[in-house]
Amino acid sequence: MSNKVILVVVDGLKYKTALDHCGYLEGQIEAGHARRWRMRASLPSMSAPCYESLHTGLDPAHHGITANSLLGPSTSDNIFALAHAAGKSTAAVAYSWFSVLYNTAPYVAALHQETDDADMPIQHGRFYNDSDRTEYHLALPSDNDLCAQVDRLINRHEPDYMLLHTLSCDSVGHVHGGSSWQYQRAANVVDSALGHHIDGWRAKGYRVLVTADHGFTDCGYHGGTEDTVRDVAFYDIGHPNPGIVTEPVSQRAVAPTILTMMGLPVPAAMKEAPLE
Ligand SMILES: [Zn+2]
Repeated sequence: MSNKVILVVVDGLKYKTALDHCGYLEGQIEAGHARRWRMRASLPSMSAPCYESLHTGLDPAHHGITANSLLGPSTSDNIFALAHAAGKSTAAVAYSWFSVLYNTAPYVAALHQETDDADMPIQHGRFYNDSDRTEYHLALPSDNDLCAQVDRLINRHEPDYMLLHTLSCDSVGHVHGGSSWQYQRAANVVDSALGHHIDGWRAKGYRVLVTADHGFTDCGYHGGTEDTVRDVAFYDIGHPNPGIVTEPVSQRAVAPTILTMMGLPVPAAMKEAPLE
């Protein structure tokens, strides 16, 4: 059986919007092809702290990246470093912050936008950046383009662990709010892009996991403790026991779950049990 995993992180996709507007993903549940959990994001419910929680199985209070402004190289055991050390291959199509967290800082587009380096924890990286991100404009790579980049990296390198991270929902949410039709539409666009690609990834032997780093408020921000910013969906497409789990699970469970799927040992510091 294949041990290859793709993790899709849809930045800022809240739980309710996933259930209501991601018809492809929900169709996988209805068809008995997937299992879905309700997952609680780490605190603060901000991107960099939650990226690191997803990859280290630790809360920000323990991994130390407690704010987006504290973005820096990860100092904890994480999926990329552990997989690389075990001789597995890794790849990412993701925002530049992932290059800073797991490869090298600072991020210099001319050097790092296309990374193919066997010595890096993310060996094959295709990173995008947006220096005007404070204005949350929408000229980010399209979800279809990001999925196509994943296709190309799989065709060329067959990575054992692949991260796909899209910022489209988060960017639209910051402009229009988490209850806007624009945000719901952005969720639907991501869902459609995934619907075009996931069957192909599954056919190549990948287990496909889809989740978010955090949710969203109606007012267009996140970071606090309300259900709307903490609750995200976690889909496991290809799970042998399909269904729905509504009892909340911790975001800290993601890293041990992925390491276990890849056949790698889980460090003692990752205390959450893998999802089953
Ligand atoms: Zn955001």
